[in-house]
This record gives sequence, C-alpha cells and structure tokens, in this order.
Amino acid sequence: MNHPALAEKFAKDFNRTTWHDETLWFVRQKRDRAIYPIPEFQELRTLASQIKDHTLSNLDNYLLQFEENARKNGVKVHWAADGEEHNRIVLDIIRNAPHIKGRTGPIKMVKSKSMLTEECHLNPFLQKNGVEVVDTDLGERIVQFRNEPPSHIVMPAIHLKKEDVGETFHEHLGTPKGEKDPQALTEAARQHLRQKFVEADIALTGVNFAVAETGSFVVCTNEGNADLGVNLANVHIACMGMEKLIPKVEHLSVFIRLLARSATGQPVTTYTSHFTKPAEGKEMHIVIVDNGRTQQLGRSDFRNSLKCIRCGACMNTCPVYRRSGGHSYDFTVPGPIGAILSPNIDLHKYSTLPFASTLCGSCSDVCPVKIDIHVQLYKWRQVVSKENELPAVKKWGMKGLAKMLAMPKVYNLGGKVARSALRILPHGMTHAKGMNPWAKARELPDAPKQSFKEWYSQNKKP
Ligand code: SF4
Repeated sequence: MNHPALAEKFAKDFNRTTWHDETLWFVRQKRDRAIYPIPEFQELRTLASQIKDHTLSNLDNYLLQFEENARKNGVKVHWAADGEEHNRIVLDIIRNAPHIKGRTGPIKMVKSKSMLTEECHLNPFLQKNGVEVVDTDLGERIVQFRNEPPSHIVMPAIHLKKEDVGETFHEHLGTPKGEKDPQALTEAARQHLRQKFVEADIALTGVNFAVAETGSFVVCTNEGNADLGVNLANVHIACMGMEKLIPKVEHLSVFIRLLARSATGQPVTTYTSHFTKPAEGKEMHIVIVDNGRTQQLGRSDFRNSLKCIRCGACMNTCPVYRRSGGHSYDFTVPGPIGAILSPNIDLHKYSTLPFASTLCGSCSDVCPVKIDIHVQLYKWRQVVSKENELPAVKKWGMKGLAKMLAMPKVYNLGGKVARSALRILPHGMTHAKGMNPWAKARELPDAPKQSFKEWYSQNKKP
C-alpha cells in the first residue's frame, strides 16, 4: 500500500478526518501562543540549528567523547550498526543482568516512549524471546493494547477518540462498557501501570539529548513514567540514535526551551530528567544506534534531517498529515520529517512519501531546528524520478505535460478543448472516479469560458 491508498482509507471517515485535522491544528495554535511571548525565539531556532550543524560535522569526535565520559561515570556503552544488532544487544543485557541470569519464569520490562525502539521493532523481538514488554506512556499503552503502531511521535494515539479508548480499556482492563470519561479511563490506566512498574526487572527509556562533555543524557516526559520505571528497576537501558548528541550542558538550555513549546505549546515538559550514572547496586546501559543515520549524514542534500529533535511540530502544521493520519505514512516517523527520513531507508518502499506534501513550507517555518523540510521533499522527488521509482502514469503524464508546456500553441489548444469538454460532456464522464481521482473527494469548479491569458489580453491596460 502506498501513501495515497492508505490516506484514502483514513479519509473515508470524514468526521474523524475533520476532527483529527482540527485537533492537530489546535496543538499548532498552542505552539504559536507559547512562542510569541519569547522575543528571542527565532534566535533560539538559529542557535539550535547551528549547534546541531556543528555537532553533525564533528559527530565522530563527540560520540567518542560521550562514550569515554559515560564509561567514566560507570555506564556501559554499546554500539549497534542496525536495528537487528540493537535488539540483540538489548536482549543480551536483559539475559545477563545479575538478578535475572539463570532465573526461570517471565522477565518483565517497562518502557517509556522511544521512537528508536519502534524503528528497530524491539517489542515483538523481545516478546518472541520471553520478555514481557509494557509501554508505560499512556498513549503508547493504548496503541500497544490495540496492536497498532503510534500515529504521531509525540501523541501516539492522537488518531483515537475517547470512545475508542473506552472500548479498548473495556476489553483489556475491564472498565465498564461505554465508559468514556477521560479521568476514569486515566485512573484505570494508572492502577494497571502502577502494578507493572512495581513488578518490572528492567526499565528501558529513549534519549532526548546526550551531552558529550559529561557523558550524561536527558529524557523528557509529561507523565513521569520514565523516572518511575528507572527508579524501581535494577537495570536501566537507554537507547539513542547517534544524532541525539549535543556538545555541552549549556547547549541544553537552547533545546529545552524549544522542544516543549514546539511540541505541545508547554513552556517545558513536566519532567526533564538528567541521568549520569547508575544508582548504587544498579546497572545503567546506553545503546547507541546507527541504523541508516551515517548514510543520511553522507547525503549532503539531506544531512540536515538529522538535526530533528522529534518535536512533531511539522506534523501538527502539515495539511496533508492532518487529513491523512499518521498510519498512512507506514513508517515509524510520519509526517513531513518522516517523508524525508524514510526514502533514505528504502527508496522503493517509500517513494510516494516525498509527494505527500503541498510544498507549502509550513513545516520548515515551525521547525525549531530550522530544517529545510520542504526543500528536501522537493529534492527527494527528483531522486525518486531519477531512480525510476515514479508510477508509469505520473512519469509519462509529466513527460507529456512538459512537452505540451514547451509548445504554447499546443497548450492553448489543449486548454480550449478541455474547457469545452468540461462544459459539454455529461458529468459522469468528466468526473468519473476511476479516471479522475480528484473527483473522489470534491467537485471540479465550472470551466471558465476563456483562459486567463485570453482574458488578460482583452483587459490589460494599454
Ligand atoms: S523536523 Fe523539525 S518540526 Fe519536525 S519533528 Fe523534527 S524538529 Fe520537530
């Protein structure tokens, strides 16, 4: 299934699509209200972009500096070239943990939100190997119950209404049928998760920022689930993409001020937790993952995409994402940023994603690290075309159109014929859904009697 086909499936439910669109626009407006009171907000964006630029240009050095300092703090550092290696490393850590090694019976892990582990498909891998994995972020737990991937990187269950959550909790947590009161549902999730936290052997978290000069890292959550998990379990595993580095602690202030404001319109996330070393008698591991990032770093046109701090603002503002839903991208990171990260992983599979955009540039305007997202989308389109990944209709259609546009007489004649045909032919022919995909969702405007060019030559002032 490609993006248009999956988007069509989502858009069939008009009410849900409209509600999804309005909800995300509400978040976008909250973001605007949060940034306006900060006069230096644009300078912060520039600074963040420059810090990331510098870090990416010296990534090898900063990674080694981070590793050295983390080891000095007593943290075990692991390197994974791809998702498969990442999963194997995590499983090895779990099986060799002193309180688990040689033990029979189920191993229990609580996990706070980590898009990297989604990217590596860690949950099914661990479950196959006898580890019970419980996602503890509320939205993540909801989609985990439903066996669905997250549809947004910050709000994983944003595609669901409270009625959907009520049904899911009725099935999995035994809440009363028809219960849709958010407070009652949240309370049920809290009771359920509390038990999971208490029983957990291992806590796994993502990493928002890793600081090279100290070897420490920061995890931002609104629910405190990362902190509770880490403080109760004996082993903490933190998984990070290699682009999460920043050079110094002082740089954190720039990113922390940008992240929550851009993501949800909050001045700061409720919990911004710094981890440096394991507590006494406990273990802390960091798994640093490449999984295609080095390749993206080597693509000069697309390396800036590695500056992303996963705030989700580009999704909230994107008219295509808002009306097609996160699942239509069929990639761990949906929306505009997903559409420039995914072709790097598999150009054939994700060849339709760079076209899931109006190129309006709103994504680039809101991006807190100033990634030129819409420019990269346009560049990926050129790569898709050069690599022969365009569907035949589009490829030959564009070639034909290019020829026609290069011949004004043919173009003028074509316009005349089309305008007459739209007026004369029966509606069923000009708006046939099979022939004209645009007619599936909207009517065409009435064809004008003359072209703009004809009107202009008649009406222009001498
Ligand atoms: S590309 Fe920019 S706006 Fe989109 S998620 Fe990343 S940092 Fe946020």
